[in-house]
This record gives sequence, C-alpha cells and structure tokens, in this order.
Amino acid sequence: MRRESRGSNKNEVPSAAVRRELKLWMLAEFGDGISVECSFGCGAVLFYSTITKDRFPIPGRKGGRYVKGNIRPACYQCNARDGAVQAALERREARERREARNARRRELYALRNKEIADQSVRVESFA
Ligand SMILES: [Zn+2]
Repeated sequence: MRRESRGSNKNEVPSAAVRRELKLWMLAEFGDGISVECSFGCGAVLFYSTITKDRFPIPGRKGGRYVKGNIRPACYQCNARDGAVQAALERREARERREARNARRRELYALRNKEIADQSVRVESFA
C-alpha cells in the first residue's frame, strides 16, 4: 500500500542561511523591512526574532515549499494553530479515502460472492 506523506514541516526545511534570507525577504515584502503584521490577522507585530514562515498559497500538505512567493509572515501561535488545523484536515481526507476504498472492496466482494453463488446454482442444475 502506498504511504501518504504526512503533511509536514519536515519536507524541505531550508538551511539557516536560507531561513535568514527568507525572513528578511518577508519583512521587506510584507512589512517595512523591520516589522510586519501576522498574515492571519491576529494583530501581532513581528520582527526578525519572532517572525515565522507560513507556506501560502500552497500549504506544506499540498507540497508547498519554503520559497519566496510561497511564504507569508505569521506569528508562532497562528502558524502552530494552522498546522494543527491542516493536520486534522489531512487526517479527515485520509479517513475518507480509506472509507471509499473499503466501500469499493465490499462491492467487489459482494459481486464475487454473487458470481460464485450463481455458478454453484448452475453446477447444481446440471448435476
Ligand atoms: Zn498571528
């Protein structure tokens, strides 16, 4: 069975130098170069030491990477909360896929059992 990759911060965590560059880029791109507001609208004002990267518009669980154009500034709390929401969403999607797969499997088994039953009826009628 194919393993779904867990929506993660593990894929593609950039090096310290790249992280630094990305933080400076977010401060300049979304703020005044020194400070910027949290993208989630909580009102937190972030600085180099407190800013975290939220992968947006393509989230990590959809393969979004930590690159300019796919990151926006977020405070730690909003980013962590969003991560938990995304993880819950991913678990739900996985459960729905599993349930759909099980339903297809049950249909196939039912069909196969019916075929076997039909065949034995034919065999009995020839006996
Ligand atoms: Zn926030």
